[in-house]
Amino acid sequence: MSVSITFLGGAGTVTGSKYLVRHGGQALLVDCGLFQGYKPLRLRNWNPLPVAPQDIDAVLLTHAHLDHSGYLPLLAKDGFGGPVFCTAGTRDLCAILLPDSGHLQEEDAAFLNRHKLSKHEPALPLYTRLDAQHCLSLLQVQPTHQTFEPIRGWRATFQNAGHILGAASVLLEVGGRRILFSGDLGRPDDLLMHAPDAPPAADTVLIESTYGDRSHPPGTVLDELGPALARLAARGGVAVVPVFAVGRAQTVMYAIAQLKARGEVPSGLRVYLDSPMAVSATELFQNHLSETRINRSELHAMARGTTLVHSVDESKALARLHGPRVILSASGMATGGRVLHHLALHAGDHRNMIILTGHQAGGTRGARIAAGEKTIRIHGRDVAIRAEVVQLATASAHADGDQLVAWLRSMPSTPRQVYVVHGEMAAADMLRQRIDHALGWPVEVPEHGDMRNALKQESKQPPALI
Ligand SMILES: [Zn+2]
Repeated sequence: MSVSITFLGGAGTVTGSKYLVRHGGQALLVDCGLFQGYKPLRLRNWNPLPVAPQDIDAVLLTHAHLDHSGYLPLLAKDGFGGPVFCTAGTRDLCAILLPDSGHLQEEDAAFLNRHKLSKHEPALPLYTRLDAQHCLSLLQVQPTHQTFEPIRGWRATFQNAGHILGAASVLLEVGGRRILFSGDLGRPDDLLMHAPDAPPAADTVLIESTYGDRSHPPGTVLDELGPALARLAARGGVAVVPVFAVGRAQTVMYAIAQLKARGEVPSGLRVYLDSPMAVSATELFQNHLSETRINRSELHAMARGTTLVHSVDESKALARLHGPRVILSASGMATGGRVLHHLALHAGDHRNMIILTGHQAGGTRGARIAAGEKTIRIHGRDVAIRAEVVQLATASAHADGDQLVAWLRSMPSTPRQVYVVHGEMAAADMLRQRIDHALGWPVEVPEHGDMRNALKQESKQPPALI
């Protein structure tokens, strides 16, 4: 009996990851991500899936980033009631990220309605905070390296992917096939997270390609951030750092604490974390320290050096401060959140700095700032960008092209087929070429909506002599 994989997201884009695996009348979804970035991509969130949510038997989540988990509230609202398996870190982070995502959807819809900007009357949120809270009851924690049955007769095993807290790759064994989903893979030399586990043997591999066309520069975040912040402090500017609440926020806080301890950045440079979600995520690190490279005293140093900003009033009060300071605020690609207010306020002054910390998906404000655009639109107004723009090439939470190929190369045996997913077209295709050249394995970049049959490993028996 066949095992099919349908690419319902994360094909030709870094967002919307959803891979539907079907076998023997049953269906399992690996990841349940939201499309983000370009409007045509975001509109896909409103299209029905080609499978009824109630016909999906189980979901596996590789990690909590919204482009892998953010569609879950809608799936549940539309009738999915099965189990969602994930690691403990992913469960804890989803409990923070998903309700916030619902809240943002509600705010966006309210904004459109207030300003009569929607073609739909009234504009509705994709899902609400309450929808997101409801779906959390479906999450079931599975430890890494322990095989479990997401559906009777199907076996799944999580292993560490080193990308953010709780991030996992997953091996799915069904119908005699072994299918490996890399999830988002961290870099082996990450400042905060341990290196990804080596991959197990598999017949079919889906590998991410966010940075498939790039090589990270040598060095760490400290090497890039140190000189930038020293410059900023010397000219008395404000650095606005759009951060993902989970992962990059903590990396930058940790890096600043280290730089202050080394005397490379003035110890008096004030740092504000203005994202309630990032504050909660930072607090979560205490419960999952063993997944990271940092120890308890480093965590405390990181927390001591940062002022946590909770309420909207505290956030607004940051505008009245004087002197050099660093404001970390979500969202990481400046698509929404409090960081927009800080950008609107500070982007126009050449003494200031905008520090981009991670991959900026095409179509986002972050990508426009990275491309050097002179104005960006925020809340219906054009905002001039005169601040220095610094892109931290070393802050990526993803393996680069060489590291992705090295991860594949460490597989115990050659797979029958590799699918390159979770990358913009150029990055995905470059990784495809690299895999072809370096490993000579069958490799393809699937398109959105494609379906493929997972192949079985050929029998190890030598062919019978006739
Ligand atoms: Zn991710």
